[in-house]
Amino acid sequence: MEDSNLDFDVFIIGAGPGGSIAGRVAAENGYKTCIIEKEVIGDKGRYKACGGAIGWELVEEIDYPEDKISRSFESLELHHVDGDTGSKKGKGITIWRNVFDKFLSDMALNSGVTLKENEPLIHIEKNNGFYRINTNKGKYTAKYIIAADGATSTTLKILGWPYFTKENIVLTITKEMKTSKENIKNKLGDDAIHAFFGIESFIPIGYAWLFPKAETITVGWGNQINLVKNSRSEFKKFENLPFVKNSLIDSKLNIYKAHLIPVGLRPKIYENNVFAVGDAGGIVDPISGKGIPYAMMSGQIAIETIKNCEKRDKLDKLGTLYEKNLDRRFLRVLKAKRIARDQIFKNDESLKRFLSLWEKYRSSEIVMKRLL
Ligand SMILES: Cc1cc2nc3c(=O)[nH]c(=O)nc-3n(C[C@H](O)[C@H](O)[C@H](O)COP(=O)(O)OP(=O)(O)OC[C@H]3O[C@@H](n4cnc5c(N)ncnc54)[C@H](O)[C@@H]3O)c2cc1C
Repeated sequence: MEDSNLDFDVFIIGAGPGGSIAGRVAAENGYKTCIIEKEVIGDKGRYKACGGAIGWELVEEIDYPEDKISRSFESLELHHVDGDTGSKKGKGITIWRNVFDKFLSDMALNSGVTLKENEPLIHIEKNNGFYRINTNKGKYTAKYIIAADGATSTTLKILGWPYFTKENIVLTITKEMKTSKENIKNKLGDDAIHAFFGIESFIPIGYAWLFPKAETITVGWGNQINLVKNSRSEFKKFENLPFVKNSLIDSKLNIYKAHLIPVGLRPKIYENNVFAVGDAGGIVDPISGKGIPYAMMSGQIAIETIKNCEKRDKLDKLGTLYEKNLDRRFLRVLKAKRIARDQIFKNDESLKRFLSLWEKYRSSEIVMKRLL
């Protein structure tokens, strides 16, 4: 089949931050683009477990509307379970993911993307140099595939790509606790988010958090999956910390959900015109678990790589150039952080050294300037 007979140039699975940005950039560059999303998008869509914290630079970059911000913060308060505390200054906001993801998918839609919600991928296969895609509602053909369907990517599972190693997966538990603005102000402060650490008696490799939204406290816990013995009792231990218990006194459980965060690259992130972006590729900060901005950037870089390779007639270089472009923009730092993570979480002494440095420096500076 000629390329011009295909339904789409670029076919994207997943309308999270990675998929929507890839879609927007692809459509802006003249590619006939489709995004499929298995859930309903927007307020009535499925809840997505996430701390929802994003830095102010990203808010400005995408011109995120004030009325969609759940809460603004000025600092991240650091708690070690043996009593040490610290504070890291830094402006940001917390958002609900259904609102944020809808904002991004609207941007894609406005750029000319065909967006199909409530339409999960069922099957995908390569056939004579192009892809055949089956969903619950239709059959499509496309030249390029963007796997933006998250940590458990169905796309990459069907295509037989290798999964993450256990050391590169964090199991998280999230509880959304409904409370009042007044309670948040009194217990957590009006403009702070909180993180909790402790290797020996708390979380071997990971941390827990209280990220307030407008009238909800997002209570989260994450530990490297092969080190989890009993997630429920380990989460309970977090809830029973005096500071946390006190913060949650006047709150009511709304949602309870487990989810995975990949904290190291997938064994491969490109093959045969298929690009893994965001969580599907493990493109996440391995120390903090921050993934929203990296999903967005990797989506953009995947499309820019296609465009440049087509222009220079170098389609055989798509894979090497995708990783090279990611490295140049930010992935080199994430790779170094993945190595540093093992050093930071070696024992409480190294963890505390990191936390005290983190009060003054960005984690990328600590790692790249070898301040540890
Ligand atoms: C508990 C927790 C807290 C976090 N907190 C933060 C935080 O505070 N700040 C931050 O920056 N990052 C945070 N992250 C990480 C962040 O959520 C991810 O890195 C980010 O969502 C990755 O975006 P994505 O587009 O790659 O994937 P996702 O956001 O996971 O989007 C994937 C999309 O694909 C869709 N999909 C899946 N399967 C199919 C299918 N078969 N067919 C069609 N569609 C499909 C899904 O419905 C989903 O909408 C957190 C993660 C967790 C689990």
